[in-house]
Amino acid sequence: MTEHRCDVAILGAGVNGCSIAYELSKRGKKVILIDKVVLGAGASGSCDDMILLQSKKPGILLEMAFKSLDLFEGLKTELLSDIEFETRGGTILIEDEEHLSIMEEFVASQNRYGLEVEIIDRKRLVELQPLVAEDIIASTYSARDSQVNPMLLMKAFLLGAKQKGLRYISRTTPVAIEQLASGWKLLLDTGDVVEAEVLVNAAGAWANDITKLVDFQVPITPRKGQVIVTEAIPPLGETNVWSAQYIVSKLKPQEAVKTSAGESAPTQTPAERFGLGFAFTGTHNGNYLIGSTRENRGFDKSTDPEAIALLSAQVERFFPVMSKINFIRTFAGLRPSTPDGMPFLGEIPGAPGFFIAAGHEGDGIALSPITGLVMADLVTGKKPIFPMEAFEPGRFGGKAGL
Ligand SMILES: Cc1cc2nc3c(=O)[nH]c(=O)nc-3n(C[C@H](O)[C@H](O)[C@H](O)COP(=O)(O)OP(=O)(O)OC[C@H]3O[C@@H](n4cnc5c(N)ncnc54)[C@H](O)[C@@H]3O)c2cc1C
Repeated sequence: MTEHRCDVAILGAGVNGCSIAYELSKRGKKVILIDKVVLGAGASGSCDDMILLQSKKPGILLEMAFKSLDLFEGLKTELLSDIEFETRGGTILIEDEEHLSIMEEFVASQNRYGLEVEIIDRKRLVELQPLVAEDIIASTYSARDSQVNPMLLMKAFLLGAKQKGLRYISRTTPVAIEQLASGWKLLLDTGDVVEAEVLVNAAGAWANDITKLVDFQVPITPRKGQVIVTEAIPPLGETNVWSAQYIVSKLKPQEAVKTSAGESAPTQTPAERFGLGFAFTGTHNGNYLIGSTRENRGFDKSTDPEAIALLSAQVERFFPVMSKINFIRTFAGLRPSTPDGMPFLGEIPGAPGFFIAAGHEGDGIALSPITGLVMADLVTGKKPIFPMEAFEPGRFGGKAGL
């Protein structure tokens, strides 16, 4: 049995665990980062690559996304390895008058909040996206939407933190968590022990597996997203692309796409059943990512032919030329979803020194730098630059039973 001691033990090496580890290591903390599987085994290794501002409703998450984007600008040079950060801008395609009026209202609310985004007509859209389908009537455009390679980002955070003394342990998980007079003791499934002043649960959709060890339930559930990867091709246009339907489905309260018995509601179309929305980004290497679905199917990470056929039909509907392009693989990831769409960022009630940073659903890559910053502030007793009330881990009630 080995005993490890550190200032902070972080559970979960996704993009958020890695970002927090990096920020705390920079501040001189001795950090141990533990993953049940391996770096990127969760959503951060099975997702798209967007730092998308214009999908967000005015409010604190949009403000945090603004700040996160600024932080990415700094990280691009500060981190020791390339993260393929790029600002190409983004367009949200509008198919009909109904979506146009929803998007006009949405864009106006974002403009009032200071986000530079506009509605452009078909003529300007075709300048940005020459191969877009002929019946697309308009789109939004924001020059600020950016992208980053999530795997490279995690590796760069890890490398930077390791240089400051971080210890990373893969393929293990705590089976018991004990409160000490000062700090916490983790008993790992290998028999090893970790003692830490502070714990941070950054286990994404699996966060409840950890909080339940201190008898606290956190309402985070997995929301599956399926994605297609194409062969590498020359760029189709200048921007990354979404459909207004994707935004409209995010604005509407999410309905479960399956009943508890696993049956779909009879009135749902296949697209509704899979929570289909269009997200289309070109990676640094020329492979395109075609996404995605939003499904409540537990921890099942399989992709299925029906969803892939829908994604394929959708990309051809918006970009007919895509019928000629080969697909090379598909994957699915599990977004950590919360009932109110806000992550849990803060101390677990009744467990002083035990923090959680999980539940970022579809924004965890974009928000990872700001998550690292505010969590490092909370852990070190500094006041974060944003008010944290909306993210309180106890907002749905309950406290740790220690
Ligand atoms: C299809 C899809 C597309 C997406 N596109 C985007 C996008 O374009 N932009 C964006 O910002 N976000 C996007 N997201 C959302 C984003 O991927 C997530 O919000 C983000 O990756 C969550 O990161 P995380 O570090 O909180 O959790 P995760 O990446 O899920 O990491 C959690 C880690 O905890 C580990 N773990 C689990 N249980 C334990 C345990 N008991 N002990 C220790 N470790 C444990 C897991 O192995 C995993 O490595 C997308 C998600 C999906 C699925």
